[in-house]
Amino acid sequence: MSGTHQQLGSVSIDVDSTVCYRQIHGLPFPEDEADPIYEKALPRFLDAMANLNIKATLFVIGRDLENSANRKIIEQAAAEGHEIANHSYLHDYALSRLPQEDMRQDVRKAHVLIQEVTGQAPVGFRAPGYNQSEALFDVLEDLGYQYDSSFFPTPAYFAARATAIGMYQMQKKTSHSLVGEMREFLVPPEPFFPMRNIRFKPAKLQEHARRILEVPISVAGPARLPWLGTTLVLAPDRVGQMMTRSVLRRKQPAILELHAIDFADPQDGFEDALKTAQNDLKVPLNDKLRRLENTFQEMATQRQLVPMKKLVQSLSSVCKEKLTWLGATQPVS
Ligand SMILES: [Zn+2]
Repeated sequence: MSGTHQQLGSVSIDVDSTVCYRQIHGLPFPEDEADPIYEKALPRFLDAMANLNIKATLFVIGRDLENSANRKIIEQAAAEGHEIANHSYLHDYALSRLPQEDMRQDVRKAHVLIQEVTGQAPVGFRAPGYNQSEALFDVLEDLGYQYDSSFFPTPAYFAARATAIGMYQMQKKTSHSLVGEMREFLVPPEPFFPMRNIRFKPAKLQEHARRILEVPISVAGPARLPWLGTTLVLAPDRVGQMMTRSVLRRKQPAILELHAIDFADPQDGFEDALKTAQNDLKVPLNDKLRRLENTFQEMATQRQLVPMKKLVQSLSSVCKEKLTWLGATQPVS
């Protein structure tokens, strides 16, 4: 298999608004007027992308698009050539376990809102908290989605999250995060068509395959360390660089996952309880930006960086020898 797709990569960002972090830490949900995530952090990300001329993929929560200021920012991002993808309507960490009809309503609500704002139906989905299920995959297929990017095959992250949730339970605070399924953290670290009813396994035959391509978030090294914004902003520069180089050495597409909070500054006006609970809100913005921009530059010198839907389109034309059923995926223009 020869492949130009080996040279591809995507910068993706989950635009999780402040309320998501309150959910994780079991903090109360006061009504917000302005959210620094949308007002301050996201525009910084878009500036960084513009400076390097990178078109990214934004996974957006439908509910946030009911706010007109947020809509404007997302409309602008789409106009600048970024892909707007679906990150559910409510960002319920238990979305994958809801009754299927509730799941469908949630995903469709976000789908419709994104289409209203951008004029284009989204084709990509990332589940809140990386939690997928067969029923959720069914919903995405029914809505015509071309790819899912919910799998993050890093056992280290799974262990860390299970520990954090256990600690909250011991302190009798309720975390709305889910431990999830270990098997989802052990999938192959490369794009694959999941088997129908066994989403952890790449299908070998077209008749067993789902129509939707799974594009896992990239992990670093044989230990599959979590190569994501949170790690990059918290780790010393040298450690982040090592992880990035290890991802870029591999032959698979490099899929970087960021969160808008990676671009937040401690001075942006977050409440104290959140700053105490959220370690990455203690790191000064300049340090974060330096580390993230170095990562983008390193990626840009070694990969052609495109929105994820373009990457999926390219995979479908290049991987045909290996995955003959890829022809079932409609190319995106
Ligand atoms: Zn999220």
